[in-house]
Amino acid sequence: MFDATPAAHRHDAPFERYLAQLRSEGRYRVFADLERDAAAFPRARWRRTPEDTGVEVTVWCSNDYLGQGRHPDVIAAMQAVAGAGGVGAGGTRNISGTSTWHVRLEQTLAAWHAKPAALLFNSGYIANSASLAALGRLLPGLVILSDEKNHASMIDGIRQSGAAKVIFRHNDPADLAAHLAQIEPGRPLLVAFESLYSMDGDIAPLAAMLDVADQYGAMTYLDEVHAVGLYGPRGAGIAERDGLGNRVTIIEGTLGKAVGCHGGYIAGSRAIVDAIRSAAGGFIFTTSVAPPVAAAAVRSIELLMAGQDLRRAHAGQVATLKAALTAAGLPVMASESHIVPLMVGDAARCKAISDRLLTDHQIYVQPINYPTVPRGTERLRLTPTPFHSDALIGDLVRALTTVWAAVP
Ligand SMILES: *Cc1c(COP(=O)(O)O)cnc(C)c1O
Repeated sequence: MFDATPAAHRHDAPFERYLAQLRSEGRYRVFADLERDAAAFPRARWRRTPEDTGVEVTVWCSNDYLGQGRHPDVIAAMQAVAGAGGVGAGGTRNISGTSTWHVRLEQTLAAWHAKPAALLFNSGYIANSASLAALGRLLPGLVILSDEKNHASMIDGIRQSGAAKVIFRHNDPADLAAHLAQIEPGRPLLVAFESLYSMDGDIAPLAAMLDVADQYGAMTYLDEVHAVGLYGPRGAGIAERDGLGNRVTIIEGTLGKAVGCHGGYIAGSRAIVDAIRSAAGGFIFTTSVAPPVAAAAVRSIELLMAGQDLRRAHAGQVATLKAALTAAGLPVMASESHIVPLMVGDAARCKAISDRLLTDHQIYVQPINYPTVPRGTERLRLTPTPFHSDALIGDLVRALTTVWAAVP
């Protein structure tokens, strides 16, 4: 039993005030308890409390974009390695925590991105924060040029890096060039950006960005988290799709989204990857990824590299959903990618629509609120997979039409 006396709560007041503020703004976060059903993806059982028997819902906002997390071969790879070797890694990479699966996964990742080397981290967030922080320490005088819409993990790493930071306008090579022109010559430069921005679904003008970086001799750091698995002939991302991978200095990705597992990584030259391996605290001082997870990721990537069928089916359902939402007159935002945002523009209404979809229609779409997106641009972010059938798309659009009219 926990201690409920006043003494145990004597430090609570500022925290209670903060939480009350979040609630009053309609952006207090409530997590949906979901038990995914591997045999019926994208269906899941949603429970209000652990004792609840729950109801079946359709998940419309997962980043397991291709359902790889429930692929029978990926599950089998994980089960086999857990059964044979156990679950946890048992140590940091340096102290007994490197398994043959970590080594194989890093080889697979390097081959996927056609880079000499890759380095595995415990998440994409840590890959970004630890790598960028290390680059700042490895390169005295470094200036990092950062797209204004970069993910929190990159912003965190840049802050930790101690490097000078310059923010350029989103996906704007001319603005990047203008900033680069102002920096005194001779300083090391790094341009950090994403290939695919996950809240708007827009894609960077990669060739133009690389041209500008090359012109100033800047290194490039490309977050491909929302593109790996999904774009390019072998699913290696936008750089592969555009035939530009060899011009990107460091590619960063995740194993938690389209790969359907868990972990993050960078890929690049041997020297850069080896230096980050040796300098990044977020890589060194933490228990390594569980070997069954690494084995599952290897299998998933092999499947993603082997054929285009899943990517074609995915693109087909994305197009079907966008067309159906447009036909229904719903405020679907223009997006060049598989991410389909619906603009709401108000935190409380966004949450109310999401709640109504879940309770009345068994459809789960999490509201996206500040600080993930700017205030006034709150939205629902739909992520159809190849397993969201035309029938499920029809259910969704009917439910959205009803709820949109009913929620003021
Ligand atoms: C999700 C995300 C990450 C972090 O990846 P995780 O593996 O989930 O930690 C990094 N960058 C971007 C752009 C993301 O959206």
